[in-house]
Amino acid sequence: MLRRCRNTLCTWTMAWMFLACLPVSAQLVDGGRSDYQIYSSPSATKTEQFAARELQTYIAQISGATLPIVHEATPDGKLIYVGFQNVPPTLLGALKPASFGKEEYIIQRVGDGLLIAGGQPRGTLYGVIGLLKDHFGCRWYTKEVTKIPRAATLQLGNLPDRQAPAFASREPWYKEAYDTHFAVHNRLNPSTVPVPENMGGSFIMYPFVHTFNRLVPVEKYFGEHPEYFSLVDGKRQNKHFGAQLCLTNPEVVRIATASVLRWIEEHPEADVFSIDQNDGYGFCECENCAALDEAEGSQSGTVLNFVNQIADVVAEKHPEVRLQTLAYVYSEVPPKTIKPRPNVTIRMCHYAYCSAHAIGQCDDHLPFVERLEGWSKITDSITIWDYFTDFRHYLIPYPNFESVINHPRFYAERNCTGLFAQGSNVREAGGGEFSALRAWVFAQLMWDPYQDGWALIDEFVENVYGPVAPFIAEYIQLAHAAVKPQEITFSIFTNPDELTYITPEFIAQSEAIFRKAEAAAQSDPALLRRVELAHLPIHYARLCFFAIGGRAYLSDAEMPAVLVEFQRIVADHKIKQLGEGFGEEAIVEFVARVENAPDFVTDWWIIGPFDNTDRRGYDTIYPPEKGFDATGNYAGVGGKMLPWAAYENKLNAYIDFAKLMSPADEGVAYAYRIFEVAQDTDMSVGLGSNDGIKLWLNGELLFESKASRTAAPGQEIVTLSLKQGKNTVLVKVDQLGGGWGFYFSK
Ligand SMILES: [Zn+2]
Ligand SMILES: [Zn+2]
Repeated sequence: MLRRCRNTLCTWTMAWMFLACLPVSAQLVDGGRSDYQIYSSPSATKTEQFAARELQTYIAQISGATLPIVHEATPDGKLIYVGFQNVPPTLLGALKPASFGKEEYIIQRVGDGLLIAGGQPRGTLYGVIGLLKDHFGCRWYTKEVTKIPRAATLQLGNLPDRQAPAFASREPWYKEAYDTHFAVHNRLNPSTVPVPENMGGSFIMYPFVHTFNRLVPVEKYFGEHPEYFSLVDGKRQNKHFGAQLCLTNPEVVRIATASVLRWIEEHPEADVFSIDQNDGYGFCECENCAALDEAEGSQSGTVLNFVNQIADVVAEKHPEVRLQTLAYVYSEVPPKTIKPRPNVTIRMCHYAYCSAHAIGQCDDHLPFVERLEGWSKITDSITIWDYFTDFRHYLIPYPNFESVINHPRFYAERNCTGLFAQGSNVREAGGGEFSALRAWVFAQLMWDPYQDGWALIDEFVENVYGPVAPFIAEYIQLAHAAVKPQEITFSIFTNPDELTYITPEFIAQSEAIFRKAEAAAQSDPALLRRVELAHLPIHYARLCFFAIGGRAYLSDAEMPAVLVEFQRIVADHKIKQLGEGFGEEAIVEFVARVENAPDFVTDWWIIGPFDNTDRRGYDTIYPPEKGFDATGNYAGVGGKMLPWAAYENKLNAYIDFAKLMSPADEGVAYAYRIFEVAQDTDMSVGLGSNDGIKLWLNGELLFESKASRTAAPGQEIVTLSLKQGKNTVLVKVDQLGGGWGFYFSK
């Protein structure tokens, strides 16, 4: 449940009953008129002064009544107290301002007035936002779309209303969430783009993440002390990224401790200091580090042993300061005996699991759940870093709303104290797949994760897409129904051709929905822009498939118009990134890849597998090499009789023998077709194969490469001198394990 502090509620309810009997006006504004004044104490903080102005502004917008803000030391009249300062103790009764958490607040009647107050620094401001949102129905969906109801009479909901957020740190990593007004009104406290101090400030993590190199810089120390850095495969590492620290070296502990103490002096604004391993692998394998990790059953052993030593020094000098460290990549499994110190938070990462289904909806998440439970047994301070986007393709249809709406509750139920939702943040511009929707839904659930997530999604769609909301809702349902089956799975690092839910049928249905939506939005340019942005992932997916030969997704005839539309929407919404580390140059490259997509040949006669034991099949002359006969039927692997079969791949350019042949783990296979030309012509073709490949033109061996590799289009370019009329091409590909197939483009 949301922490509403029920115990406190009970104790002061008694004192309250007396006050509740006093005459209280049920309405703050009645018929556009109000006899209330907003009281902001002369000692109110900047944030509380801002809160009072916010209250004034929005009450005026809603009701037309502008309530004066007063600051007298001993105010009189009917007051809305914004903040605890100067509220007469008789009105407070048993209510103890000191009992409020940093972001916790209460809205309650006091005498004939109203109190909106909370802890420092943000409680009072969040109380005002809570009043506007929960009692008056205000919403801030996006920078452009807000809902401020109009009502001449303002009625309060159920009081007292005491709330605190489920998570102390709340950060959805979407550009849309970092707009200051959006963040304030949706009560986010992001660290990477903080809310200004006078508007409540943020939960600051200093430094944000991956801090080993800042604790003990490789540039400063490696020259004289390579032993400070991680030993990997017998070599001390000196790369800025990738090098970790030798955590059992006492000098490293000493230098890192000094760095943390300096940070604490220099950054009094920080809520927590990060002692985080660098990104990637590269943990130290020296004798001491390896022995400790071995004993603890995890590399978290050396990490925590290191962090705890710093934590002990910090606890002595700065008892109020918290530290945090990652449980990530090699340190996810908790140690067997070492426990985090009370001033250490574990920042656990959920990143290499199924994105089609939420935790609890498929077994893929079980290792994570087990690790989280393990950490829960040794600490009550765990914060979460979870991932909700395709790192390579921010624009791809990525139907993971089940994770978006269920994970916050899962973490809250396990008392996790913070949630960073890694999304498709692009600093300069937003526009990742449904990023505005994700930013808003996350914000609501990070405050109260026990809300109905799908109802929040519906509410956003209804209000942001207005008359075309039913189409957007239909598309969202279509995409999410497609990924519901247990056999569907995708990760945060996938390529479009691995996203099996993106079928030509799915694309066709989605296209039909968006065409209707765009037609219905024609008279409203702002709405049309939003619909086009929602449509963009479908254009992007079609172009991705086109580039790899998927003409069933997008035909040659349709491609130019779709590409123009894609570029227009990208420019219109100033989209600057396709994925993590794929910036504007990646967009240019992507467009070029589509424009120059080769003409893949994907219709062949195929036959196989023939024996390839010890790779002897590569040079064995099997019957297909002696001439094509469509009715031929030959003994293959294990004596199985093999016929020629006509095959065409319309989904992509790859002729995937591993999928088409059985058994798929050994053998050679053949593909055959005819090229007919009106006159003698040289045709340049691109070949790619996994593994070795041979090519015969009109029965003559023209090319071979006894390769062992993953296939990619155009690994070799071969010129075929075609004669007028029919020419036969035979391709042979052998299998050395893993993938097995080829590309052929002209
Ligand atoms: Zn070491
Ligand atoms: Zn799954």
